[in-house]
Amino acid sequence: MFMKGKKGVILGVANNKSIAYGIAKACADQGAEIAFTYLNDSLKKRVEPIAAEFGSENLVYPCDVSNPDEIKALKESLEKDMGQIDFIVHSIAFAPKDGLTGRFYDIPKASFDIAMDVSVYSLIEVVRELKPIMSDNCSVLTLSYYGGVKYIPNYNLMGVAKAALEMTTKYLAEDLGKDGIRVNAISAGPIKTLAAAGIGEFRFMLKWNEAHSPLKKNVTTTEVGNSGMYLLSDLSSAVTGEIHYVDCGFNIMGMPATSFDEN
Ligand code: NAD
Repeated sequence: MFMKGKKGVILGVANNKSIAYGIAKACADQGAEIAFTYLNDSLKKRVEPIAAEFGSENLVYPCDVSNPDEIKALKESLEKDMGQIDFIVHSIAFAPKDGLTGRFYDIPKASFDIAMDVSVYSLIEVVRELKPIMSDNCSVLTLSYYGGVKYIPNYNLMGVAKAALEMTTKYLAEDLGKDGIRVNAISAGPIKTLAAAGIGEFRFMLKWNEAHSPLKKNVTTTEVGNSGMYLLSDLSSAVTGEIHYVDCGFNIMGMPATSFDEN
């Protein structure tokens, strides 16, 4: 039981297809006590039964990360109901549709600002607001994608946001290291979730990754969850500021491992 005695909060469960759900399951299976947040009332109805599945029906809170008051209120609720926390999962991203399709240079400033606020700045703000209730070996985890490192068709604005998120992970890791707090990211391969549905030609991405990754398959939320559990537990006590790929090895490929038929 690698998470026995650990308490934490997971932001970003929308349904049981969410990457955050896979992480919650892996942590709960290893003995963690987990609080959940939801974005709005329609997602509340979906998150509540999921929380109940993990015995956390009394640990479900609203948190739209674009509203600083809701992050502050989350801290108060967690402090009252859990005391200290040992881990935080930030599994949140959003970009308006016009940032995920079409010409990159057409991205409106308003869309850019929203994507950076919800998908990047929120990590800094959540960490800062929850810092007073973090235990002295707290582990923080966020979720990135390869489109923040290399060009991926249609990923557009979210690619810029993920690049910023990965550097935010590293700067936070350095800053909080002196307090014993670790901050890491998982760069997951493509998975069909609600957020992924917003990305143009997503099915092609799935097919491409399956065909060209060393393991010749797509990653599952269970596999990302297990790797997430490792980064949140003391198993990874010397790991911080890391962008850990959980993508069936796709990121190592310089070109597809196929050859032209020369005959
Ligand atoms: P998902 O739709 O299940 O999760 C995204 C979550 O973000 C939802 O729970 C949604 O409610 C939340 N969210 C959006 N705006 C919010 C706001 N203002 N305040 C609070 N919450 C908000 O999809 P997912 O694929 O599980 O995404 C989770 C994370 O994983 C995201 O950061 C995503 O970019 C990343 N990721 C996804 C993939 C993929 O292919 N699915 C791959 C790599 C990384």
